[in-house]
Amino acid sequence: MPELPEVETVRRTLYPRVVGRRLERVEILTERQIFHPDPGTFRAELEGAVFDDIERRGKYLLFSLGPLLLVAHLRMSGHLFVCGPEAPRQKHLHVVFHLDDGQELRYVDQRKFGGFHLLGPDRQGMPRGLANLGPEPLSPSFTPDVLAAALAGRQTSVKAALLNQALVAGLGNIYVDEALFCARIHPARPAGTLTEEEVARLHGCIRRVLARAVEKRGTTFSLYRDGEGNEGDMYDELQVFDRAGEPCPACGTTIQKVAVAQRGTHFCPRCQPAPEGVALTPVRARPGRRGRSVRVAAEPPGTYE
Ligand SMILES: [Zn+2]
Repeated sequence: MPELPEVETVRRTLYPRVVGRRLERVEILTERQIFHPDPGTFRAELEGAVFDDIERRGKYLLFSLGPLLLVAHLRMSGHLFVCGPEAPRQKHLHVVFHLDDGQELRYVDQRKFGGFHLLGPDRQGMPRGLANLGPEPLSPSFTPDVLAAALAGRQTSVKAALLNQALVAGLGNIYVDEALFCARIHPARPAGTLTEEEVARLHGCIRRVLARAVEKRGTTFSLYRDGEGNEGDMYDELQVFDRAGEPCPACGTTIQKVAVAQRGTHFCPRCQPAPEGVALTPVRARPGRRGRSVRVAAEPPGTYE
């Protein structure tokens, strides 16, 4: 699933191709990918409008067209990119936005969980997930105190807390595992038990991991591609995610995969000691990403600079 770095990379690659362009025609091939309003109104409101800006909040892409706000959420496998009309139509193509330079902004989604909301000036119909989003982890307003307040008093695992978009926006399975490894915190630790020092470390790690992943244009694990159809380069820098059975880059202990917060969770049992009395269900590791390149050199963990 695309997380903050992947969605940000899509935003940056779409920006020069889409902003300033007039939307001539909206072709809806799969109506259920239009969440709000009805597909006919969606099409009528958008046709003729001009893209002014593209912003990102958490994992949402926000396209401004005058008073209109087009909200896209890619969910599991959504893919937004610009291509020429001559490019063969993809198998899971659901929406085509025809731009006034002849190019097409296409929405492809194999699993069909993602899609669009179109909001008018009153912003009625905003998806609840967007309305309730927590702070942007790369913004200056995300301080160690903000993270501490989000985790304080919570019995839930720190992994579940970081996946909760209302507490921190934009993190998903990959970067939560990476940030917790970087901070040397076990994913099953109850969120409210982290010390002030651990919260400060985790805060720094979340920012470093995300900033590095944005710089590397995201992680292509299976389906993710950017707005030009390219893969991200972050995969080979991941320290624990998808590396069950491999040696920890810090201490050589075998990286484990267990279920935490109902998600496959990767950690080093030595660097990230388990909290007492927590039983963990092992998850059998699948083979890693097909055709991935061999790791050249294990970088010291916790750096990401
Ligand atoms: Zn280790």
